[in-house]
Amino acid sequence: MAEKSLKILALTGGVGGARLASGLYSAFGGSSLTCLVNTADDFEYLGLSISPDLDSLMYALSGESNFAQGWGRKDESWQCRSALKQYGVDTRFALGDRDLATHILRTQALREGQSLSEITARLNRRLLTDCRVLPMTDDRVRTIIKTPQGELGFQDYFVWHQCEPTMLEVHFDGMASARPNPAVMQLLSRPLDAIIVCPSNPYVSIHPMLELPGLVNALRANGAPVIAVSPIVSGNALKGPAAKMMEEDNRPVSAAGVAGWYTEHYPGLLSGFVLDRQDIAELDDIQAMGLRAVALATVMTGPAEQRHLATDIVAEFVD
Ligand code: GDP
Ligand code: CA
Repeated sequence: MAEKSLKILALTGGVGGARLASGLYSAFGGSSLTCLVNTADDFEYLGLSISPDLDSLMYALSGESNFAQGWGRKDESWQCRSALKQYGVDTRFALGDRDLATHILRTQALREGQSLSEITARLNRRLLTDCRVLPMTDDRVRTIIKTPQGELGFQDYFVWHQCEPTMLEVHFDGMASARPNPAVMQLLSRPLDAIIVCPSNPYVSIHPMLELPGLVNALRANGAPVIAVSPIVSGNALKGPAAKMMEEDNRPVSAAGVAGWYTEHYPGLLSGFVLDRQDIAELDDIQAMGLRAVALATVMTGPAEQRHLATDIVAEFVD
């Protein structure tokens, strides 16, 4: 199949998702790729509307990200943060000067009544990416983590509590009345070549997307192969609390554990699963779940690895 005719939908959270999405973008171009992005970690801070996963993705696609750090912009400076600190503000949630520009414009647009989709498209165009970046919804959905210390909003759990409290339960405030982004529903009404669930945290990056009323049915009905990539490699998360959350959910911290999470929560959704070559011993267990499992090099240490993984996945699963 000619590469330019491919139509791919990628479901992504922040860092892990942005890495694979960047590889897909580099390999197949913006006209082939639409990214549906988690917005359940969005929050307000110092009066600003912050969308961490949208920003991680847009910065990665546009070559603006700080790859080593995994969040924020490259060539960042911290003048505003220092000045806030001088005023006694708790600045553990670090906002760089260049990053602030994004939050200021987004906040202003939302206050003027624009949708999150509209302002995202505008910022993304200005960052010179031609890939469609869709917030999962324009409605307000927020991840709430139930812990022994009470219910914590995601950023509260992640930044102020450093993911320390035990996750007893997760729910998504606002979900029942949220609508998936109409643009993704429209996209799904036409045949796609592949739906790729990026190696993002299943609990707090992918779950909120899949819980949007009607989305999973639309993904299943599209008929394209739905392929998830494991964010757990060799029994660990490359970043963030995914491994800790799996333990607290009493699941094996492994690629097979991730595959089990998907098949139990959403039977029949996935057709394929990509695990890392280091975990090839788990291949049969994952196949036994009814998935076509393929072991690939999934650790994306730079742009070349991102692109390789993207082309390998498409070569394996798209005919
Ligand atoms: P967040 O919203 O910034 O936490 O990002 P995501 O949910 O998109 O990604 C977090 C997950 O990405 C973690 O569980 C990591 O293990 C995974 N991850 C990050 N980089 C890579 C990578 O290069 N390969 C794979 N397989 N997983 C990765
Ligand atoms: Ca996130």
